[in-house]
Amino acid sequence: MASSHDPLYILLLGAPGVGKGTQAAFLTEKLGIPHVASGDLFRAAIANQTELGKLAKSYMDRGELVPDDVTIAMVMERLSQPDCAGGALLDGFPRTIEQAKALEKALAERGSRLALVLYIRAGEATLLERLGGRWTCRQCGAVYHERFNPPKQPGICDACGGELYQRPDDQPETQRRRIRVYLDQTAPLIEYFKERGLLVEIDGERDVESVRQAVEAALEPVLGGRV
Ligand code: ADP
Ligand code: AMP
Repeated sequence: MASSHDPLYILLLGAPGVGKGTQAAFLTEKLGIPHVASGDLFRAAIANQTELGKLAKSYMDRGELVPDDVTIAMVMERLSQPDCAGGALLDGFPRTIEQAKALEKALAERGSRLALVLYIRAGEATLLERLGGRWTCRQCGAVYHERFNPPKQPGICDACGGELYQRPDDQPETQRRRIRVYLDQTAPLIEYFKERGLLVEIDGERDVESVRQAVEAALEPVLGGRV
């Protein structure tokens, strides 16, 4: 039986644009654990012009996955930092079976395990509509949508006043490539986590607030009196 002091690892699984980052923004606050998004870590490495950033960019620009060894090392390093001692909300990692196995092994070595996989599901038309209108804050990473969740002032982040930009990999050709890559390499994780009894499926077609309520309901049995 897990105690309220055990680290809490929760995974957000779903296609690009389904709304993982949007839900993570409220979840990380509710759960009191950091949001660890592999895509954000790669984008930070690109901004800092590191070797890892240069390598990652060559894959990201094409909508391909960054190789497993590099990705696993980067996320494990992040999870070993002190602010992750109480667990983490994982978003965009794992994206392959090999990454999932590496994560399980690393958590087991710490005497821990994933508590829950929140699989958010939506059809391709919805994903393309969301990716096409996404604007992200360069400064704090907050996510907007030009129609579904517009900022108060176009181009400016409500939260921090930072500049909003459209991600280069949100261009139409790359969007479609990323969705294909998701279906080929990441979707097998749905069955993988279902077999382990960890998967809860959330209807991601609905508005942000409805998805949020479904996510909260799914978390209830795991959290109990924890938060
Ligand atoms: P992911 O992290 O899964 O790639 P995001 O959270 O960045 O997805 O969301 C993609 C885009 O869709 C953003 O522009 C976001 O504002 C918008 N969005 C997220 N969830 C919803 C929703 N339930 N309904 C409408 N738009 C949404
Ligand atoms: P995201 O921000 O999750 O949409 O990810 C943006 C891009 O970063 C992806 O299209 C991949 O190129 C790369 N990426 C992010 N997470 C991973 C991962 N777990 N494995 C491999 N590549 C990743």
